[in-house]
Amino acid sequence: MPGLRRSAKPDRNAPSSRALKVLVLGAGVGGLSIARGLLRDGYDVTVFEQRPHLQAGGGAVTIWSNGETVLGQLGVDMTGSGQLLSSVEVWTSSGRRLATLDLTAIVDRLGAPVRMVPRRVLLERLLDGLPTERIRCNSRAVGVVTRHDGVQVEFDDGSWVEGDLLIGADGLHSVVRDVIGAQPAEPTGWCSWQGLVTLPDIAGQHVAQVVVGERGNLGLWPAGGSEVQWWFDLPWSPDFVRPERPIELIRSNFAGWSDAADRVLAILTDDDLAHSPYPHFRHPIPRPRGHGALTLLGDAAHTMPPTFAQGTNQALLDTMVLCKAMSDFRSGTNGDLPSALRWYEKTRRPRVMAVSRVASLQVAHGEAVLRPAAMVSDRLITWALTMFLRTASHCRLSAEVSRELGAAHR
Ligand SMILES: Cc1cc2nc3c(=O)[nH]c(=O)nc-3n(C[C@H](O)[C@H](O)[C@H](O)COP(=O)(O)OP(=O)(O)OC[C@H]3O[C@@H](n4cnc5c(N)ncnc54)[C@H](O)[C@@H]3O)c2cc1C
Repeated sequence: MPGLRRSAKPDRNAPSSRALKVLVLGAGVGGLSIARGLLRDGYDVTVFEQRPHLQAGGGAVTIWSNGETVLGQLGVDMTGSGQLLSSVEVWTSSGRRLATLDLTAIVDRLGAPVRMVPRRVLLERLLDGLPTERIRCNSRAVGVVTRHDGVQVEFDDGSWVEGDLLIGADGLHSVVRDVIGAQPAEPTGWCSWQGLVTLPDIAGQHVAQVVVGERGNLGLWPAGGSEVQWWFDLPWSPDFVRPERPIELIRSNFAGWSDAADRVLAILTDDDLAHSPYPHFRHPIPRPRGHGALTLLGDAAHTMPPTFAQGTNQALLDTMVLCKAMSDFRSGTNGDLPSALRWYEKTRRPRVMAVSRVASLQVAHGEAVLRPAAMVSDRLITWALTMFLRTASHCRLSAEVSRELGAAHR
């Protein structure tokens, strides 16, 4: 965006007497969802995105019941998108069934579906109804200055903008995270090669498959129509050198693990692997995560490995809790703005830490570690996953938010 962005200096009026000016850095799922939530609640929100266009790369993400509930609260219509899932089968690479997770039990207990949705579709749905003038592309933030009455964000073209509040939803290598002095993300030693492939006879299937071997795992998850999300996880280190023919590396590690995997391996080419691998990172969760009128949301606050596919869902839960903090602040029940932000961070921290810790366990990466799971009943494993999701999802607060939104719309 050329030229100097000038904005009215934040005034010192009581915040509740005018719409607070909220700056959001990053237009990923986190940035777009918090923008939707705060616009819904009457704030003056602008999202700044470094990329020239909004387009989602990569494959698909799993939206679990906890994330789907927040999308509903944000008015994002997910009807007909992606593929609803009913179970996840876990196998060993030698063809032994380890467990079947019954997702319908999770859906019954948590009250919302589990679906696999291509990232591009999720982005479209999040953007639907979000005023385009609220998103400024080509705006790469390079600096943040905090003031007693707000924040100033500086961009790489020399321009700047001021606001009352800055939400860093700028992902793994967040600039805002640097400003608050939180530690950078650390690689976990694993990576995913992943993407979407078309398998015409898969249409309508709602069973996802994970196959775990001695030194890696793969997943094949239907993502709507005849699209299937595939992933192949392998060890990774920062000195990884990309092979000239990555497909050969993948085939040599995973051929023969399952019939479906062999079909996918036969179709994939080096072009399909062009954007992979995606190394797995994990952030230490800072305490507190922000300061003054700054806070973090989504991967900027808590990048975690994709095991359990919770990253996007946790960004959505951040959104729900931050909107609640802001709404309590406005109604005068949550102190001043920094106190409301610290309440959001403290409320999220234990849940996020638990999810991040579980996502970092090596369970999905070694057949030997998972073997005892074959002795546990599917019912017990499903129950444990349901309880884990329930505990991590602020169910009571979520019900309260849904009730308040329902009452506001009556
Ligand atoms: C291989 C893999 C598979 C995954 N699968 C799943 C899954 O199945 N389910 C799930 O829930 N999660 C999954 N995740 C995690 C999920 O992708 C992330 O948790 C989620 O995308 C986080 O969204 P976000 O908006 O916080 O960050 P991002 O999506 O990273 O968005 C950050 C945005 O900020 C912008 N930005 C960055 N720096 C700046 C700057 N300085 N100025 C302006 N803009 C900036 C970026 O361009 C980007 O658009 C997976 C992750 C990986 C790596």
